[in-house]
Amino acid sequence: MNSQYVVAKFGGTSVANFEAMQRCAAIVHDNPDVRVVVVSASAGVTNHLVTLTQQKVDAAEREALFQSVMTIQQDILACLTLDTDLQAGFNDTKEAFYALAQLPALDAQQCDEMLSFGERFSSYLFTQVLRDLGVTSSRFDVRQVLKTDRQFGKAVPDVAATRDAAMAHLTPQLSEQVVVTQGFIGSDNQGQTTTLGRGGSDYSAALLAEAIAAQSVHIWTDVVGIFSTDPRLCHKARPIARLSFDEAAEMATFGAKVLHPATILPASRSGISVFVGSSRDPHAGGTWIEKNNRSEPGIRAVTQRKNQILLTLKSPEMLLASGFLARIFTILSAHNISVDLVTTSEISVALTLDNAPNATRPELAQACLDELGEFCQVSVENNLTLVAMIGSEIQLRHGEASLMQVLADFNIRLICHGASRHNLCFLVEQGESDAVVQAIHSRLLEAA
Ligand code: ADP
Ligand code: ASP
Ligand code: MG
Repeated sequence: MNSQYVVAKFGGTSVANFEAMQRCAAIVHDNPDVRVVVVSASAGVTNHLVTLTQQKVDAAEREALFQSVMTIQQDILACLTLDTDLQAGFNDTKEAFYALAQLPALDAQQCDEMLSFGERFSSYLFTQVLRDLGVTSSRFDVRQVLKTDRQFGKAVPDVAATRDAAMAHLTPQLSEQVVVTQGFIGSDNQGQTTTLGRGGSDYSAALLAEAIAAQSVHIWTDVVGIFSTDPRLCHKARPIARLSFDEAAEMATFGAKVLHPATILPASRSGISVFVGSSRDPHAGGTWIEKNNRSEPGIRAVTQRKNQILLTLKSPEMLLASGFLARIFTILSAHNISVDLVTTSEISVALTLDNAPNATRPELAQACLDELGEFCQVSVENNLTLVAMIGSEIQLRHGEASLMQVLADFNIRLICHGASRHNLCFLVEQGESDAVVQAIHSRLLEAA
């Protein structure tokens, strides 16, 4: 049985500066059911921290990056007076950040430690903004409860351990006050800091909502919901009022950056509603993703994910032999590689992988290519984009003529359709992908 509690998550632009934080604090103040607040690093901070983890950065650049991060925090701090408990924690965090920023080379665990500072700073500052608005609140270190494995850079949460720790340390506090905590970060079983991958604060919010059996999770960002495509790309994109868990999960997976790909998982598993809205315009509505939302047949949205790698593996010896795919996937799995699309023929298999810039770790290691190369020809192509049409019961004959006409103008590399009734995906050259999305949106989503 779920409680009345709501988990509210505020993304990087929502906590970018003092005024933005004040708008978010007002949202919390106005909804007494909000008991857990999850904050991201202020916009731009995590990118600086990612650069700080890179080996090629010299001492002068490290100092400049440290200063850039601290300037963003100080600009907010200039509008606040931190209570003594928060001031002490903030100072300690700054010292730890400074010490780590001196090191010329970091191991994987230290990289995650470095990446954690943005969320840690935001949580001190946001707690004070809430207190100044009269909301009884305290800052909570999420690493006490959000338990993960040790895959630094992209750690996998331990749902049972997180729930047990939340029941012991977090839930008892919620009847008394609002708890402000960090997105994106967690800790392993030795208490060392881990991170969930870029954009992971949405996922943290959903995991915490599950752990405290919340009624819903509210993702406050810079757009009034999930749109039919990225509104930055098509000005005619429209917000979608209701989505089913399946459709929302597909949209997040295939590139609607508005939600981290894994966000829907805990919510749908535990029947927790998800709302996506704009912290700039909280009364403008947004998207509700709920268990009982029915998906209407047809295409609802088009998304894109840039920087895809197409890996083609070919082995004529495998004609009529068995075990080829098993061997490939064993190697990929040993290297923790997550594959998105797969198409096969008798002697070859093509796979797509993500290669996002600013990712916290590279997806495709040379060691993995070498192992694959021992038994097949390997070809790697970069600079591709995965375009996905999302909806329900999508069939190629839905608007077949117009879809084929739209695509005829472009060079399509690979098509995947059929494994899920909720998507139809293909790869295009990155340079063409914005135009492909705009063409599909205009022909198939604006006409209705
Ligand atoms: P936050 O910092 O709040 O986590 P993000 O930048 O991660 O915010 O996600 C919000 C952005 O996602 C929007 O500004 C928008 O440009 C982009 N976006 C991409 N696809 C969509 C979509 N289908 N609907 C809404 N926003 C989208
Ligand atoms: N600050 C992290 C990032 O920029 C996590 C997040 O904002 O969701 O990736
Ligand atoms: Mg985000």
